[in-house]
Amino acid sequence: MEYNVPIKRVLISQEQIQKRAAELGEQISKDYAGKAPVIVGILRGSILFFADLVRNIKIDCSFDFMSLSSYNGGTSSSGKVRLNLDLREDIKGKDVIIVEDIVDTGLTANYLFNLLNTRQPSSIALCTMLDKPSNREIPFKPTYTAFTIENEFVIGYGLDYNEIYRNLPFIGVFDESKK
Ligand code: 5GP
Repeated sequence: MEYNVPIKRVLISQEQIQKRAAELGEQISKDYAGKAPVIVGILRGSILFFADLVRNIKIDCSFDFMSLSSYNGGTSSSGKVRLNLDLREDIKGKDVIIVEDIVDTGLTANYLFNLLNTRQPSSIALCTMLDKPSNREIPFKPTYTAFTIENEFVIGYGLDYNEIYRNLPFIGVFDESKK
């Protein structure tokens, strides 16, 4: 069965993502040896990468989730971050690793660090599947990055356009003219 998707090209394949997720999982396992971090997935975009990453974390850890939004369904940030769903667990004294799909303007990551820091965790780190450093509005450097990309709007592997295409098993550069 053919699935026509509006992309200019495939940017990153499933194999490439899974390879990097394995490397980062290995790195995190070493960096957090003897600890039991809380892995916080940011819904909805991070779930495919989250699943790849955590399968490669070989120390005790727990999962929690948050949902935030800064895009209004289109291809640019609204500039405002909204908290739709908060953590279930108390993170006081815990080591927290946030898992993001993409860091773009840096607004979401900055909001998250400020918010979670008020809850007195022992540490906070952020692991992102993609980093678009050329589009930053607030300086922010992810602790772990799978891939750094140019300033292009991408879909797939959790990333949407109007909530569609999150299921694509690769990351592609969105082509508005083909949709
Ligand atoms: P930031 O707050 O860093 O500007 O953006 C973070 C959020 O914007 C991401 O979690 C993601 O939902 C959305 N976003 C940023 N760039 C892209 C992109 O290229 N494609 C898609 N689908 N979403 C993006």
